[in-house]
Amino acid sequence: MATAFATTTWTGRHYIDGAWHDASGATFENRNPARTSELLGVYPRGDRSTVAAAVGAAREAFIPWRRTSRIRRGEYFDRLARLIQRDTDALAAVLARESGKILNEARAEVIEGLHMVQYVCGTARQPYGTVIASEIADKDLYERRKPRGVVAVVTPWNFPFAVPLWMLGPSLLEGNTVVFKPSEETPEIGQRLMELFIEAGFPAGTINLVHGHGEEVGEPLARHAEVDVVAFTGSYHVGSMIRRWAAEADHKTCACEMGSKSAVIVCDDARLDLACDAVTLSAFKTSGQRCVSAGRAIVHRKLLAPFIDGLLSRVSSLRFGDPFDPASFAGPLVNLGGVEKVEAYNQLAKDEGAKILLDGGRAKDANRADGYFMTPFVYQQEHRPDARTLREEVFGPHLAVIPFDDEEQAIRIYNDTPYGLSMAVITEDYRRWRIFRDECDYGMGYVNLPCIGAEVHLPFGGVKRSGNGQPSAAALVDAVTHRTAFTVNHATNIVMAQGMSADVRK
Ligand code: NAD
Repeated sequence: MATAFATTTWTGRHYIDGAWHDASGATFENRNPARTSELLGVYPRGDRSTVAAAVGAAREAFIPWRRTSRIRRGEYFDRLARLIQRDTDALAAVLARESGKILNEARAEVIEGLHMVQYVCGTARQPYGTVIASEIADKDLYERRKPRGVVAVVTPWNFPFAVPLWMLGPSLLEGNTVVFKPSEETPEIGQRLMELFIEAGFPAGTINLVHGHGEEVGEPLARHAEVDVVAFTGSYHVGSMIRRWAAEADHKTCACEMGSKSAVIVCDDARLDLACDAVTLSAFKTSGQRCVSAGRAIVHRKLLAPFIDGLLSRVSSLRFGDPFDPASFAGPLVNLGGVEKVEAYNQLAKDEGAKILLDGGRAKDANRADGYFMTPFVYQQEHRPDARTLREEVFGPHLAVIPFDDEEQAIRIYNDTPYGLSMAVITEDYRRWRIFRDECDYGMGYVNLPCIGAEVHLPFGGVKRSGNGQPSAAALVDAVTHRTAFTVNHATNIVMAQGMSADVRK
């Protein structure tokens, strides 16, 4: 397998208070998931003291940054956008090499990050509050957003460029300062992003980068007393701890985007080709490692046989290979833990009595044996509340086809998971999709599309175990600001609302 560029070993550094810090103690290695014998880079392994230094720098920088004009803050993002445009191809190559995403998807992710930066820049000149009438004619009421303070940005490996920008962008624009902890699986693209923030001129301390593991950096960061908001995207397991830690701290809030068991619902009037394409993309793009990846195709029984034929003919010819090979549809899983988890769920589907339709297992040919390549696993399973494979997130190329007989049943099946992130319905009937739109639990809904492919100027978030009601991307503004009420009296005397007397001479 040839990669698009020569292999150089990257060197990681923290960035704290306007200065780079080389590893002075423990380090960790990052390896290419498509070829694990290839060492990509070595990174400093941050700890509690690194976190304390970064949070201290962010706290110190908060007041001057908050006092900087919102429009000036937006202009830093204008410069950042131009730098991302300049470096799009190089960033995509780093992202593909490190995460195993195919180059086309890696590039699309860089563009998605760019769109967030452009959105943030444009938002700087938009209103950030409202003027509201008072019942007293001489009073003006204002609702104004104020930044919360220091935001911890803790991000996953599977969108290591776009997701950090979904969080860093709104946080910094609104006047917060930030400590950014990239995933230990994708530290290099996080560091490249940091370099661009520096080149764009963001002042020292406004954004700080700490590399390291979840327990050693993510946890002390999320629990730090001087952190006001934790913006987290990742697994439910970690997100649920972050929610608890935030609840235990009086001043802290959190925005948590977590896992899913997303689905495509195929109605009996669906266009078959569109349905098969939508399910294939939803389940197997990024080898099923998107938070919104469909683990389930919920298909009307009338269409089941032709749908399965169409699906299998597509899926069996997908190429899971070198991220830099333009013929690859998707790349490897990110690590051995991911492979073992998918293998365990594939076995569980068999144990739970599923009818197996496709089971290629781990790719062991010469080109792929050194990487974490899994091929699609597709099975048919009647809906059963006790079938764990139909309810739990697998995060790999693992798809259940679940038949249904009427819409009420399809809705019950769709909602029968602890998650609620993304839902697509394939139908030609405008009355039908409205029912699914209203009755299913999700944050992002689609009609006649895959259940993947969000755009940044929409809120991105889910319900139940998928989110805590603070969506990210454009909607993160709500999580990193608090709304203040501010009342100004233009009269020379005091008149109280609700008819309350202001007479102090009685
Ligand atoms: P993960 O939860 O393992 O890690 C995410 C981040 O949390 C990493 O930076 C990690 O170092 C950190 N972390 C790990 N343990 C921690 C701890 N004890 N305290 C604090 N931080 C800790 O997730 P991942 O494997 O990187 O990403 C995959 C998961 O993310 C999937 O469940 C996927 O569905 C989810 N995801 C959700 C969205 C969304 O918007 N809903 C988007 C992308 C990914």
